Amino acid sequence: MNRACRGFEARYPELGPVKVKAAWAGMIDTMPDIVPVIDRSPDIEGLVIGTGMSGHGFGIGPGVGRCLAALVTGGELGHDLSRFRASRFTDGSAIRLPPL
Ligand SMILES: Cc1cc2nc3c(=O)[nH]c(=O)nc-3n(C[C@H](O)[C@H](O)[C@H](O)COP(=O)(O)OP(=O)(O)OC[C@H]3O[C@@H](n4cnc5c(N)ncnc54)[C@H](O)[C@@H]3O)c2cc1C
Repeated sequence: MNRACRGFEARYPELGPVKVKAAWAGMIDTMPDIVPVIDRSPDIEGLVIGTGMSGHGFGIGPGVGRCLAALVTGGELGHDLSRFRASRFTDGSAIRLPPL
């Protein structure tokens, strides 16, 4: 943060010293293949997992919420969630990155 401020001041000295008004930091949660997990836990009965949304959640958040609700309540999923299965990291599947 300091480095960015000092760099900005050096580039635009006519604007004077830069003061930070607000700052935020957070954990980037991604899976090894950068694809979320939306699934029932393979190990714990009754646990539903929805994680790894960094990089995706803005776009698919509403749909993910609907799918997670269906997983919890046993409702109609309406989507093939196999790409989001938790077991892809343990069933011998190759790690497959999404298109960049
Ligand atoms: C560091 C980071 C980087 C990310 N980068 C990206 C990215 O580049 N691209 C991308 O697509 N996604 C990214 N994501 C994921 C994305 O931000 C989330 O998936 C998305 O914002 C989820 O939207 P949401 O509306 O479901 O939940 P949120 O955006 O979390 O909204 C939930 C809201 O509910 C409020 N709330 C919680 N409890 C209560 C309560 N009891 N009463 C009232 N209000 C309540 C919270 O304050 C919050 O405002 C990133 C996430 C993180 C943490």
